[in-house]
Amino acid sequence: MQNVLDSLLDGLSELIYISDPVTYKLLYINQAGKEAYGADSADGSHYCYAVLQGREEPCPFCTNDRLSYDSFFEWEFTNNITGRHYLLRDKLIEWNDGEARLEVAFDVTERQRESESFRFLGDAGVAALDCIRALEGGSDLAGSIDEAIRILGTFLEADRTYIFEIDGAFMSNTYEWCRPGVLSQRETLQNMPVKLVDQWIEYFKNGQAVFIKDIECLLGEHREEEYEVLKSQDIRSLVAAALEIDGEFVGYIGVDNPQRGEHLELIEKPLLALASFTSARMRHEAVQKQVAELTWNDSLTCACSRAAFHRDFDRGSFESIGMALVDADRLTLINREQGRPAGDKVLRRIAGCLREVFGEGVYRIGDDEFCAVVEKVDYKEFAELVERAAQRFLDEGLPASLGPAWRERCVNAESLLDLAGDRMRSAKRGRHRATDLGVDLASDAAVSNLLRPGGAREAVRAGLFTIYLMPQASSATGEIVGAEALIRFRNQERKLQALPSSFIPALEDMGEISSIDFFALSEACATVSRWQQEGRTAVPIAVNFSRRTIGDKGFAERVAEVVASYDVDPWFIEIEITESAREDDSALLRRVADGLRSGGFRVAIDDFGVENANFALFTQLMFNVLKIDKSLVWGLGSERHTMKIIRGLVNLCDDLGIETVAEGIETEEQYRALREAGCTRAQGYRLGKPQPIDEFERRFFT
Ligand code: C2E
Ligand code: MG
Ligand code: MG
Repeated sequence: MQNVLDSLLDGLSELIYISDPVTYKLLYINQAGKEAYGADSADGSHYCYAVLQGREEPCPFCTNDRLSYDSFFEWEFTNNITGRHYLLRDKLIEWNDGEARLEVAFDVTERQRESESFRFLGDAGVAALDCIRALEGGSDLAGSIDEAIRILGTFLEADRTYIFEIDGAFMSNTYEWCRPGVLSQRETLQNMPVKLVDQWIEYFKNGQAVFIKDIECLLGEHREEEYEVLKSQDIRSLVAAALEIDGEFVGYIGVDNPQRGEHLELIEKPLLALASFTSARMRHEAVQKQVAELTWNDSLTCACSRAAFHRDFDRGSFESIGMALVDADRLTLINREQGRPAGDKVLRRIAGCLREVFGEGVYRIGDDEFCAVVEKVDYKEFAELVERAAQRFLDEGLPASLGPAWRERCVNAESLLDLAGDRMRSAKRGRHRATDLGVDLASDAAVSNLLRPGGAREAVRAGLFTIYLMPQASSATGEIVGAEALIRFRNQERKLQALPSSFIPALEDMGEISSIDFFALSEACATVSRWQQEGRTAVPIAVNFSRRTIGDKGFAERVAEVVASYDVDPWFIEIEITESAREDDSALLRRVADGLRSGGFRVAIDDFGVENANFALFTQLMFNVLKIDKSLVWGLGSERHTMKIIRGLVNLCDDLGIETVAEGIETEEQYRALREAGCTRAQGYRLGKPQPIDEFERRFFT
């Protein structure tokens, strides 16, 4: 019976032993047991705790007192001597007439390993989820990735977790987490050649992670360079998974010296999952950046967008802020005549010039409109910037109109922009008018520079204007009895004097003409005053005033003030107002004329007869002088009835006590005809061209 039992039990792979529950003597052990614990272990002289557990006393976890005859008591234990994990089944049996303990031990080490793996994978899943949550949740990419690699590193009990990002042939450590006490490597791992990880790419391409269980193995595989780099960072083992954006290998996420996870392979799945989520987050960020790029930037000109302008200036208050609004001139025309690419190029160049001058704060706020904004700039500095920008446009031959506006304190940026817009539009009107009149602004840089807000005032200050005097002779005696002041602009580039026709209509349209009119008045006063001081017989000087200027509030008073400031008798100043001013507002013209006359000035109506000589003029206002335009005078020779008209006109004026001045007298014949007609004064090339004041003096004051 004993033999049968022996051979039966010896045939089993499970460990089986029988012991005395009272004395702990080992009574029996089967073949598998003997192989595990020694052949003589069951000769009856050994204690079960000594043989099976290597102890000197009964085991503290002994199950003897829990055993019965009816059923097995089941438990699990990892045995230190065999290093294996067992499922144990114990019960009491009859053995050689006594009570004995039977234990059957099933080796479940493998199953145990598996379940440990399962547990690890379960935990890893949770950790991966935490990582993913961190990646998805955080609003900034850097914070999210830092948190994810921290969770990963902590979970794997690693020394370091990190991300490398590839840029061309180089890669850099861009994110890093280190276990407390572990030195950061990030600084030293910048711009490393990607070829260092050449061996890894194959794995990455196959969607696998890279495992280096022990870097010493690298030496056997002739991967010395890689070995040195890893060794220098105290890396013994590592796992890495690729980061991919749109199928392109852009970097990898790595773990150094992970303690957790007995088999590195176990890390693969969660790490791959994490890598793909990290990639997705990076891609999301890249897409968002692109969207932001498109929203806040203008891709054509690289200026900031209109949306960015609203973002930056719709709210808040701004100190010492200047805005320069710039609009490309006739862009539609350029697009139509030279094609869209040419128009695009103009826009890009305008934006480029603006950025050169104003820095980053350049916004494209409309199709062909830019606004450059500078904050914390005083007015003078801002004006200089604007001037520089205008100069850049000229140098570059860029057709653009510019409108500046500046405020010390601004709570409504929109209204500042409106102001800049008004000025820009007025500049544009002027430029268009000049171009329409045949001025080539691209080649005539000086005039172009004049046609910007404040340009006329600055040119006056810079001494770029002067007046020429054109003599007026008495028809009766031929004596010089007066002069007309005619403005001239020094076009330095062409070393020429620019004629008023190239800029006056434009400056009128821009609303910038009054600085020129008052400059001419001042010069005329200064001249008369000097003549008087020098004891010469001063003659009155006629000064032209634009219809725009006479409409300004307090015009007559301002004229009186200026003249008084030179201590000149108003009698010496004749104020010329164009006949067409009447069309604007005859009541205003009448008021102004009355105001001037009551101040002692003589009022002359200029350009009579340019269009159709309108006799209603005589009933509408009182004036002192009528200037018959050259267009009428030039008709004298050819058309007989012109002479009759002029004669009638002169007679009418005589009756009303109005002097007449005939303009544009070029020939002796014209001169004689006008004298015959009884015209008071004559003016024209026949008597003298407009000339510099000193020349005028030399010629007429002997
Ligand atoms: P205007 O006031 O009718 O001045 C006469 C213009 O006719 C001058 O042209 C003069 O050179 C020209 N002229 C006079 N006699 C003859 C002649 O015999 N033959 C020819 N071919 N031309 C003659 P300019 O100097 O080019 O001035 C043109 C216009 O510009 C002036 O016409 C006046 O309306 C305006 N202007 C000149 N100076 C000023 C100014 O200071 N302020 C304003 N608002 N306008 C001015
Ligand atoms: Mg005139
Ligand atoms: Mg005239």
